[in-house]
Amino acid sequence: MDNVFDVIVVGSGVVGSSIAYHLSESKKHEILLIDKGFPLSGTSGSTQAWVWVHSKVPSWYGELSMYSAELYPFLEKKIGDVEYKRTGGIAPFFNEAERESALRLAEQQAEVGIEIDVLSRDDVLEKEPNLSPNVAGATFSKIDGNVNPFRLVELYVKAARKNGVQCSFYNQVNDIEKYGDIFHLKTSKGSFRAKKVVLAGGAWSKELGKMFGVDIPVRQVRGQILVTEPLQPFLQYTIGGVRQADNGEVLIGYSKEEVGYDRRSTLDVIQQTARMAIDFVPALSKANVVRCFSGIRVMPEDGLPIIGEIPKMEGAYVTAMHSGITLSPLVGTLMTELLTEGETSIDLSRYSLERFEEVQRR
Ligand SMILES: Cc1cc2nc3c(=O)[nH]c(=O)nc-3n(C[C@H](O)[C@H](O)[C@H](O)COP(=O)(O)OP(=O)(O)OC[C@H]3O[C@@H](n4cnc5c(N)ncnc54)[C@H](O)[C@@H]3O)c2cc1C
Repeated sequence: MDNVFDVIVVGSGVVGSSIAYHLSESKKHEILLIDKGFPLSGTSGSTQAWVWVHSKVPSWYGELSMYSAELYPFLEKKIGDVEYKRTGGIAPFFNEAERESALRLAEQQAEVGIEIDVLSRDDVLEKEPNLSPNVAGATFSKIDGNVNPFRLVELYVKAARKNGVQCSFYNQVNDIEKYGDIFHLKTSKGSFRAKKVVLAGGAWSKELGKMFGVDIPVRQVRGQILVTEPLQPFLQYTIGGVRQADNGEVLIGYSKEEVGYDRRSTLDVIQQTARMAIDFVPALSKANVVRCFSGIRVMPEDGLPIIGEIPKMEGAYVTAMHSGITLSPLVGTLMTELLTEGETSIDLSRYSLERFEEVQRR
């Protein structure tokens, strides 16, 4: 590996693997995908994995998410079965007062082509009879669904390798320097050179940014998830907070805690999550919980993805986002355009690192 790569992607979670795969499709580039662990060792291996669109605001962010969801069926044709299911998504509310904001959301999202129905209590229960009878209504959209994140990342990496991408796992990038037009990456397994570098380090983006002297403003936000024993299929839709996987397990949870990079599960949040599950789907009170896990969300300061070239650092790029599972097919596609043509078919200026006034160079 002593050649100069066209592109080195740092981080092989769902975002970095998607970029490496999409970029490799033309087989025109020498690409290295590098990770200090393995492709699912970060957040992509500890996620709910909804492909969720309908409540993403502002609506232009919803629109971006919708385009990405639309790519999933094509992606599956190319890389194989990632267990993508467009189940439709239900976001229930339990208080009639919330109907007003649900109607506003539907109106707003319709402007960008996201179709949302605002359901009455009876409509919701007709669709998903196992939801709590206490539900007051819900927003519903056909566009939402979910995917198996393990298959997704595994198949991105497999397809990328098949297209010639070289991988170096269990290899930490410790520093990056630029001499002339070439980046030199110092890693625990030696030095690598590249014409372009993409930082796709998820929760570690801040540390990676420092190697370029920039602040990448992301916070680490823990989420804890409960997993039940496999149950007979009884939930048809992806419900805000609860989804049933193909193997019958129900994944429950949407907690958000700012505790740094701490992946422990805690009794208080497990109990709250279990209560939430029963409030939403009373039948879950009889289910056995077989495991719980937690993952670290990558939360840009304003909640919106960071995608694009690092200001004043030609050839260096950053991708950091919550909802990387939803967005990965589109981010991989757009980053490929940016890396090869210098521009993208969808305007990404809103997602640039430059939008943060406080972005400081060292
Ligand atoms: C509980 C929970 C639920 C979620 N639910 C959803 C959901 O339903 N839908 C959705 O779309 N998103 C969801 N997310 C968010 C989603 O999982 C993430 O946005 C996504 O996994 C981030 O992928 P990534 O590739 O950016 O990061 P990661 O998967 O963390 O990958 C980053 C990689 O970079 C590597 N790395 C870091 N630093 C270095 C270094 N110095 N050298 C080499 N390698 C390095 C790491 O080892 C890691 O493998 C959820 C997250 C959590 C925690």
